[in-house]
Amino acid sequence: MRTLIFLGPPGSGKGTQAKILAEKLSIPHISLGDMLREEVRAGSGTGKRAKEAMDAGRLVPDELTIDLARKRINREDCRSGYIFDGFPRSMIQAAALEKTPIDRVVYFRIAEEEAVKRLLRRAELEGRADDSEEAIRTRFEVYEKETRPLIDYYARMGKLLEIDAARPIEQVSLQLWETLK
Ligand code: AMP
Repeated sequence: MRTLIFLGPPGSGKGTQAKILAEKLSIPHISLGDMLREEVRAGSGTGKRAKEAMDAGRLVPDELTIDLARKRINREDCRSGYIFDGFPRSMIQAAALEKTPIDRVVYFRIAEEEAVKRLLRRAELEGRADDSEEAIRTRFEVYEKETRPLIDYYARMGKLLEIDAARPIEQVSLQLWETLK
C-alpha cells in the first residue's frame, strides 16, 4: 500500500508529476480538479454546485470534495495505493483524512512569479476557464490562506518531503522516483 499526497501552489507541476509517478508505480492518480471538471462537463448536480467557484478560482465546498475523494479511494483500484493531487486543500479536508494512512506528503516548493508564468503559458495552450489572470490571482490567495497551513501540519507529523519544483520536469520526476520508488 502506497499512499501519497502532492501539495503545492497552482502551477507547481504537481499534477504533471503525479501523473508520471502514478504510472511508474501502477497506482491511480487522483486529481480532484480533473474529477470536478468531469462533473461539470457531465452536467451533474455536483458539477453544477462546483462550477461557479471553480471558474472564479475559489475552493468548492469541503463536503463536496471530501465526499468525492472518499468514494474514489474506496474503489477497488486503490487497494495498493494512490496519489492524491490537489487534495486535501484545507484543514477541514485534511482532518477528514485523519484515519486514512498516508505515507508521504510531497510539497512542491516554487516562487509565485515562476508559477504564474507557467500558468499563463498553460492558459494559452489549454484555455482553461480558471487560467484567466483574475482567477489565477484568486487561486494564489486561496492557496496561501487555506492550503499553506497544511505544510506545517504534515511537517509536524513527520510526513513532509519538500522538493524544489522550479526545476525542469525530468529533474523533478527523477528525484521523486529515486526517493519514493
Ligand atoms: P486544480 O485542477 O487542482 O487546479 O483544481 C481546479 C479547481 O477545482 C480549483 O481551483 C478549485 O476550484 C477546485 N478544486 C480542486 N481540488 C479541490 C479541493 N481539494 N477542494 C476544493 N476545491 C477544489
